[in-house]
Amino acid sequence: MSGSDNDRPSLPSDSTRCSGTLSRRELLAGAGAGAAVLLLEQRGLQAEGTAPQGQPPSGRPIVFAHTIVVSPDLTQEDVALAVEGDRIAAIGPTDEVLEKYPNADVYDGRGKAILPGLVNCHAHMAAVIARGYNEDFGFPNSYKLAVRPSRLLSPEENTLMVQIAALEALKTGCTTVMQLAGNIHTHAAALAETGLRCVFAEGVRDTENVPGPMTLEGLRDTTEAPRFSARLRDEGMQRVSDLFTAWHGKNNGRISVFAVAGLAETSSQELLKAVRAFAEEHDLGYSVHLSQTTWENDFMKKWHGVSPTGWLDRAGFLGPRFFAGHCRYLDDVDIALLGSTRSIISHQANMAGNRGVIPPIAKLRAAGCTIANGTDNNTNDVFSVMRTALITERCSRTSDLRPGTRPQPEDILADATQGGSAAANLEQTIGTLDIGKKADLFVMNIMKPHLVPYGRLLSAIIHGGQSSDIESTMVDGQFLMRNNEVLTMDEPALLAEADKVGRRVWAEVVEASGPVRFPREPRRERMI
Ligand SMILES: [Zn+2]
Repeated sequence: MSGSDNDRPSLPSDSTRCSGTLSRRELLAGAGAGAAVLLLEQRGLQAEGTAPQGQPPSGRPIVFAHTIVVSPDLTQEDVALAVEGDRIAAIGPTDEVLEKYPNADVYDGRGKAILPGLVNCHAHMAAVIARGYNEDFGFPNSYKLAVRPSRLLSPEENTLMVQIAALEALKTGCTTVMQLAGNIHTHAAALAETGLRCVFAEGVRDTENVPGPMTLEGLRDTTEAPRFSARLRDEGMQRVSDLFTAWHGKNNGRISVFAVAGLAETSSQELLKAVRAFAEEHDLGYSVHLSQTTWENDFMKKWHGVSPTGWLDRAGFLGPRFFAGHCRYLDDVDIALLGSTRSIISHQANMAGNRGVIPPIAKLRAAGCTIANGTDNNTNDVFSVMRTALITERCSRTSDLRPGTRPQPEDILADATQGGSAAANLEQTIGTLDIGKKADLFVMNIMKPHLVPYGRLLSAIIHGGQSSDIESTMVDGQFLMRNNEVLTMDEPALLAEADKVGRRVWAEVVEASGPVRFPREPRRERMI
């Protein structure tokens, strides 16, 4: 295992910079000009095509000129945003910013919008191997394959899946990802090399006789109370401690390490206390999967006499450092407990949606919880999660006097950025495009037929924007992708290898299990 301070991913040299980059004089001349003129000029530039731009030499400021800076509370048209080192150094009129940074690497921001980087608070990155299988059979997956695809991956192939997930993340505006897994040390270096800001959230469990998330059959067939193991607990917390020692704070502070109790149903009171104590001792966040199914709730009441949330509360687990994953099945007592302790909710709207149950987000907001977002399995696209979160929460607010008005796109972007930064315990560092904050951001090309014209840009982006409109992503002042070219990973090679591995794995799954059968609706004859 490795990982030293100030490690940087290897990046192309300045010689690969775009030959079509505008001169400073041209950009200064544009200051104060009408938006229509600027946009017409931009169209001309795009028609000629732009070569990929590489990373500027270390230490050279970057100025996004004549761009639009979009935040939940403010959209600033025709401004420049300067990045110096790893921080946002200035936002203001382009001519003034360029005067201040005469040697800047200038990024033509015309027809572009800059948004704060998105935070994924709940990802199982290697689960991309189960795409097309995990989304359509509820949770826990009710389709029983003879062999699970993840079991057919070598350690190297498991790391490849994590890299593919990271590639998807950075191409879709995510700048911070929390990887929830066991034995993260096996792929920590590969994930760190992507340049993403990462939280390595090492999962720990200490039950001997509860194999995983509670199922209908598991609840029905369980005849003994959960048996907890001090050995499993100690081994798990040692893994967390070792990972923390190796990685926490590394890569200019881009890497954090959290302890996570895997599931409510696989956690003893002692484990919950140990996870929280570790977070308090080292000033970290911590998490658990919570109330994913009615079977989990019934299991906890059967053996512990309380709801999963009540079980956490009994251990003193709830609080402002705590972010709970999922929370699809909460009652009003649970919601009040989470709200009064200022706990954070990581809402995986896409996964909740395809599992058919949306958590009571409106009630959780009203109770005082901060909402953050995650992807869970299969996808790593938080940008698309934002739209699902908005639509599903609106649909769930059945008693609103005026349906279709809450939440607003501004609320949703705040969840995915500020809410996420709170869960990552990085509120002072990331989450907004403020001067002095880390330069974690993404750039969208808004000159698209689904985005222009617009009356309110953020609304257009959340309702109609596409992840593929994102052309650049920056973390810690470093481009991970610039003008659609990924700089920290070999995208074509990774995709080719992942496709090969995926085809081999699924061929083996089908050979062992037979073709996967889908419970489709019967198609009926049309009546004329
Ligand atoms: Zn999960």
